[in-house]
Amino acid sequence: MPVHPCQKCGACCSSYRVSFYWREAEKKDSVHAVPQEFWEEGSGHYRVMKGTDSKHNPKCAGLGGKVGEWVKCSIYENRPSPCRNFAASYEHGVHRPRCDEARKKHGLPALRREDWEL
Ligand code: SF4
Ligand code: SF4
Repeated sequence: MPVHPCQKCGACCSSYRVSFYWREAEKKDSVHAVPQEFWEEGSGHYRVMKGTDSKHNPKCAGLGGKVGEWVKCSIYENRPSPCRNFAASYEHGVHRPRCDEARKKHGLPALRREDWEL
């Protein structure tokens, strides 16, 4: 089976601040609560994935592997909504500039439609 392009990337997990509504990390409110050891308190009603609240080199504490080579989200089933909603460029035929930006930051080329013809 071909490798999904995100498994060889991880750039978004190492580019952006990942914050989410606090209840996503509460076991009583979410069946896929974000594990406590992976987040810290943010501002207001938000929590932030550890490692992503860095101005210069954000990298989520949940990310394993090496960006651009092989990566794995260690809490994939329990990842917060920004991660669930972040779309890879052209995966469903739509261009996603934020994916391009993250990849560019890590020296990776933007994904093309052809990359999904698996
Ligand atoms: S929780 Fe997983 S998908 Fe979300 S930023 Fe961290 S490593 Fe990436
Ligand atoms: S930057 Fe794009 S291709 Fe890379 S892991 Fe994130 S969504 Fe996937």
